[in-house]
Amino acid sequence: MSLSKTLYKLQLIDSELDLARKRIEIIDSILNDHKELDLALKTQEEHQKYLTEKQKDLKFAEHNVEDQNQKIAQNQKRLYGGAITNPKELEDLQLESTSLQKYLSALEDRQLEAMLDMEQTQETYNQSAAHAEEISHRKETESAVLQSEKEELVSRIEILGRDRDDYLADTPIPNLPTYEKIRKSSGGIAVTLMVGNSCSACGASIPSAIEQEARSPTKMSYCPACKRILHPKPR
Ligand SMILES: [Zn+2]
Repeated sequence: MSLSKTLYKLQLIDSELDLARKRIEIIDSILNDHKELDLALKTQEEHQKYLTEKQKDLKFAEHNVEDQNQKIAQNQKRLYGGAITNPKELEDLQLESTSLQKYLSALEDRQLEAMLDMEQTQETYNQSAAHAEEISHRKETESAVLQSEKEELVSRIEILGRDRDDYLADTPIPNLPTYEKIRKSSGGIAVTLMVGNSCSACGASIPSAIEQEARSPTKMSYCPACKRILHPKPR
């Protein structure tokens, strides 16, 4: 096997390893990102608080109406019960009755307002609860899919790691340190295909002297622009 092919085979394993590890990083960051659900739950909690307040307001308004009705009933009992005959007293009771009725109507208006308020808040709460539920459900489904993709990647990495070890054990690679060094400085790609007379990593044209060298099985040549090791693509 030519020198460049030996390294190119290693590059293929390493590139797949890099890709798998990168994908796992992305998956982990998605799995650990709870911002969207946290925000939805917080909103739901706030709306729950408003709802509790509005329910309390409504109870209070209902209680006031009930109270007022009792007062009116007592007034009517005294007014028409026959026990009171004094005209002045009866006149006072009549005035009181009118004023009690007037205030009842104001209290009933408040009760209606409180009920509408409560209904609207209930609707808003229902919407926020449904939204949080929808996000939670979506996240669960998404997590399951990502989790199984991650498991597949982990086992693929194990296989590739073994392949790499076996390959290095079976194949003498004197240029391994150079390869590792270029990989570090060139974004993981140390060996690139030379397609025709151009570098497939950076697109530079390869001068014919270097192209010839790259095609020699015993020599190593480098792209003059990106400094990567060139491996001629089989024609
Ligand atoms: Zn290049």
